[in-house]
Amino acid sequence: MKLTVIGYWGAYPEVNEATSGYLLEHNEKKVLIDCGSGVLSKLQDYIKLEELDAVVISHYHADHFADLYCLQYATIISRHLETRVKPLKIFGLGNDQKFETLEYGSSCIAYPLNSGDTLEIEGLKFTFLDTEHPIPCVAMRIEANGRVLSYSGDSSWSENLIKIARSSNVFLCECSLYSSGNAKVAGHLTGEEVGKIASKAGVNQLILTHLPHFGDRKELIVEAQKHYNGKITLAKGGLAIEI
Ligand SMILES: [Zn+2]
Ligand SMILES: [Zn+2]
Repeated sequence: MKLTVIGYWGAYPEVNEATSGYLLEHNEKKVLIDCGSGVLSKLQDYIKLEELDAVVISHYHADHFADLYCLQYATIISRHLETRVKPLKIFGLGNDQKFETLEYGSSCIAYPLNSGDTLEIEGLKFTFLDTEHPIPCVAMRIEANGRVLSYSGDSSWSENLIKIARSSNVFLCECSLYSSGNAKVAGHLTGEEVGKIASKAGVNQLILTHLPHFGDRKELIVEAQKHYNGKITLAKGGLAIEI
């Protein structure tokens, strides 16, 4: 599978960039993981919107799903124009009122996901586990052909992240805070915490994402390296990796 980082900012996108959004391509199928603000525009640098088969949303914070509603409009327009044949599948946490808003006419079909579920989505095996966050959120493990990508969603320290990331080829993990900093935001991880989780999970490679708008972000790598000695990369728009 091929991962392309569409957006990687926490909270809001910087100029011409996007918050959380990751494109996964496998056997001609295209799945978008999270659809935060800015993602809909940046995604079109890589694919046409009508090529998208499915969207999987980690949680209902705006920096992870704000652009989904405009994607629904795009989908209905492309169905009218007959540039899209199949409806778009949208997967999100089922036990939340927002789930009801994922379905849109006959163009977007909503599918519930819950912690503990394993679902096959477009030939990829997804497993979901709860994270520690102010609202319900899931981390996900995605497997195909014996290769594994794991994604933290948003979370503070959680044993579930170690479980979900176990022996991954690539662990895409949120890293919103500096261990050395004063900024305390509930539900997010520091560089050192991410390093510890990656080390305990025995992951092959770590990508830091959901990055903060302050400080020297290279310091996040230095912090994570105190506990993890594999390859560490800062996410950036267009970063593509074959897993
Ligand atoms: Zn977030
Ligand atoms: Zn969040």
